Amino acid sequence: MSIEVRNVHKQFGDFTALHNVSLQFPDGELTALLGPSGCGKTTLLRIIAGLAQADSGQILLDGQDASRQHVRERQVGFVFQHYVLFKHMTVFDNIAFGLRVKPRSERPSKSEIHERVMRLLSLVQLDWLADQYPSSLSGGQRQRIALARALAVEPRVLLLDEPFGALDAKVRKELRRWLRRLHDELHVTSIFVTHDQEEALEVADQIVVMNKGRVEQLGTPDDVYNRPASPFVYGFLGNVNLFHGRVRQGVLDTGGFEWQAPDHALVEDAPGTAYVRPHDLDVARYEPGAKGIVARLLHAHAIGPLAQLELARADNDDIIEVIIPSEQYAQLAPREGEDLLVTPRRVDVFLETAG
Ligand code: ATP
Repeated sequence: MSIEVRNVHKQFGDFTALHNVSLQFPDGELTALLGPSGCGKTTLLRIIAGLAQADSGQILLDGQDASRQHVRERQVGFVFQHYVLFKHMTVFDNIAFGLRVKPRSERPSKSEIHERVMRLLSLVQLDWLADQYPSSLSGGQRQRIALARALAVEPRVLLLDEPFGALDAKVRKELRRWLRRLHDELHVTSIFVTHDQEEALEVADQIVVMNKGRVEQLGTPDDVYNRPASPFVYGFLGNVNLFHGRVRQGVLDTGGFEWQAPDHALVEDAPGTAYVRPHDLDVARYEPGAKGIVARLLHAHAIGPLAQLELARADNDDIIEVIIPSEQYAQLAPREGEDLLVTPRRVDVFLETAG
């Protein structure tokens, strides 16, 4: 089922949690809602689910306005960070619960329920836990059972709010790969909330980056990482070096390198910032007169195929982070304290005052 959020606005008193948000979630895709704490991710998820009402705007499910529909009618399944399984019920009964409480006319037969629960248990690869109680499960197993329980009623949409947020890093990593595989099998339109950029980049078909109740960018992981639409997205999705400068005769001059400014913003003297990811910077031996930024090597270490270098700009002591192949680092063999020449391979420029 496709989901469309159209001009959704939400206020809590004077505080605006969502500013006229509009988004499309294509049928069968897994979308990550990514952003810092308090940016409105959970609020948006709750409005899509029907657990909260927007002040204005609409939620369309398969093109039909569902804004006034009750949670049940929307047929959504949820998994929350602290999903509470019923403690007094076995794993089997927890998963069967949603089916057993259906109105008589929609309720599957006993044998159908048995078959469906067992199928879900094998899907989440926990068949052997059917007769256990939640207290004997690990955190990761509980979340997988919570997911099986949400899937039991065959929801048209699956909403996951930081489903692995409470688990330790290793389990979290395993579970997100597992979620991806599960999604590839089921193709249920799914939205999951996370503030972990690595998780979003690894798992999602598309990512919505949110900030202060607004959508900063909607795109594939490749789009948001490699073609960020704003300085915020740049900074949120990975490490980035900032080089401040001014437009001089159509180029942004950062005092070490120059870069073509975007055409629409060729205002002489406008301040701007060049954003360069560590792996988009190159380093070489310093030679007087060569173009680039002169910086002193503070620290370097190579781990596997990549070497990470930390340098301080000679003119203002700003820290620069560079990542190069370990092989190149070994050839260059720089000494700590040595001056090196830093040049960008790829730059994005954001100007503070456009045209
Ligand atoms: P987190 O990752 O911390 O859960 P989030 O991006 O999911 O953050 P929301 O939970 O959607 O953010 O909250 C957005 C903002 O709205 C927050 O500043 C929060 O304090 C505020 N807020 C949320 N619910 C309410 C409420 N019922 N009453 C008042 N303010 C609220």
